[in-house]
Amino acid sequence: MLGKLSTWLRILGHDTVFAADITINKDEEDEDNALISLAKQEARILLTGDKNLVLAARKKGVQCVQIKTDDAMEQLEELLRHNIALNLEPVPVRCSECNARIRKVEGGEEEILREKSYVPKSKIGAWDFWVCERCGRIYWEGSHWENMRERLKELK
Ligand SMILES: [Zn+2]
Repeated sequence: MLGKLSTWLRILGHDTVFAADITINKDEEDEDNALISLAKQEARILLTGDKNLVLAARKKGVQCVQIKTDDAMEQLEELLRHNIALNLEPVPVRCSECNARIRKVEGGEEEILREKSYVPKSKIGAWDFWVCERCGRIYWEGSHWENMRERLKELK
């Protein structure tokens, strides 16, 4: 339910751990405890739709927000209403797939762009591209960035 939200938060540059991506104990109570400990250790804000998890986290002094809507844009609005300091401008700093840092692809590195089928080959050399240092995903500011900016404007 929060997968899209975590993608959006990363596009906005926020360091975001998605619970489904990390390995934790399957037993439900332990899973809640593991999430709470992680949030506490790394000083993260816990975002969840689970009311019980919110209550347990608050008891342990972890800042958290109970997300009540399904749509990612509405979820961003919920965060704003809770006074979470959100950047609302897409920035090429973080991989939306894996949360690692991305860096600009330099001249002479075109080979890593050519080997990805989804990269628009005609734009190599013309556009700026970024590569994820962990998973290798390639990013660029295409029309989807404009669409995102338009949608984010509606939030302000
Ligand atoms: Zn990545």
